[in-house]
Amino acid sequence: MIALFLAMQIAGAPAARPAPTFIVVRDGQTTTSVPVTINDGEAFVRADVLMKAMKGMLITGTNLHFTLALPRARLDLIDGIPFAKFDTLTVPLTRAPQVRGGQLYVPFQFVSELIPRYGGGYFYDVAQGELRTATPTAVSSTPARTTTAAPPPVNRGPTSTTTSAPPAAPVRTRAAPRPSPKVVVIDAGHGGPDRGMVGPIGSPTWFTEKDVTLSVAKKLATVLHARGFDVLMTRDTDTLIALSDRGRIANSNHGDVFISIHCNAPGSNNAKGARERGFETYFLAEAKTEDERRVQDMENESVKFETGANAPKGDPLNFIITDMAQNEHLRESSDLAQTIQQGLIDVHPGPNRGVQQANFAVLRGSYMPAVLIEIGFGSNLSEATYLSDQANQRALARNIAESVIAYLAHYDSRIGGAR
Ligand SMILES: [Zn+2]
Repeated sequence: MIALFLAMQIAGAPAARPAPTFIVVRDGQTTTSVPVTINDGEAFVRADVLMKAMKGMLITGTNLHFTLALPRARLDLIDGIPFAKFDTLTVPLTRAPQVRGGQLYVPFQFVSELIPRYGGGYFYDVAQGELRTATPTAVSSTPARTTTAAPPPVNRGPTSTTTSAPPAAPVRTRAAPRPSPKVVVIDAGHGGPDRGMVGPIGSPTWFTEKDVTLSVAKKLATVLHARGFDVLMTRDTDTLIALSDRGRIANSNHGDVFISIHCNAPGSNNAKGARERGFETYFLAEAKTEDERRVQDMENESVKFETGANAPKGDPLNFIITDMAQNEHLRESSDLAQTIQQGLIDVHPGPNRGVQQANFAVLRGSYMPAVLIEIGFGSNLSEATYLSDQANQRALARNIAESVIAYLAHYDSRIGGAR
């Protein structure tokens, strides 16, 4: 095996500190050698071999996305993009991960720096070329004591001949799993000069979306508070918050889920349009149907009220990173949308318009499961009346809260509380 590893390595890495020929992954009594290969003069490690050695898993997603699922942490990568994502943090890489011969390769720095920092309890020993679990016993001041069956690290080059014992490194393990309470971010759609939709069609306008969304959002916050959750509202007064800032507020406060509340309006402002009614819940994805595109365009309209400084930037890198973050939560967002939509059947007069997908700017910036609920058509006279009633708003809020609570409990049980 070693000979094969050596054969795969091309001599003469030009980096300031040459990478070892292979690294040893030590996990308790188990040691595994993982070859380091040189691609275009840079040191890389094959992700699937590394994950196997670390008792983790390489998950291949769509659109060149990969997740390295370690026993106590997850890191996300995109082929060709020199960044890794850990939780809500985006970390630069010296080189982009790359797929060669159908296999994902990560830069050596990923092993030597990112895994020790974000991998959930690993320490990289430069002198030994060894990545080991940083359990309290193994990281004591005599880490060399356990080197019983390790193959000797070979030919690491002149600059890595560190003779002293590896630093008794303060191992940066991740803090214990995030304690309760969970943080629910509630986003009342529109606000300030952006009124959202107004209605109903065919009568003097008295229904304003921004007021109803705020009223329902506040009631939802009250219920969740009472149930022991932390609640963050993107706005709790009649103000305009830029769409791009709503997600940012949620991220910087480490929200666990993001719920945006809106009211719907049909595409045509006539008698036929006035008959449209019902509730639907969206999660982030490309809009697929005509109707989804209509709602998407309507809700994204708010951007025009935002100042230039707040308007979303068209930076492709930002988009890629945001896309990477959101892709990771697509499945969760879809589950959350399903839970909420199913719940609303019990309380809303309907009809149930189902779970939809669209590319909402407001959901795009939130690095957590995120949904947008259209609680009904303010353009329809009877539904506008229903939505404006305080008791109905409370019933909707209680119902949505129960779904969020059920979803979070389910989510916790699925991931075993380890995040
Ligand atoms: Zn809206």
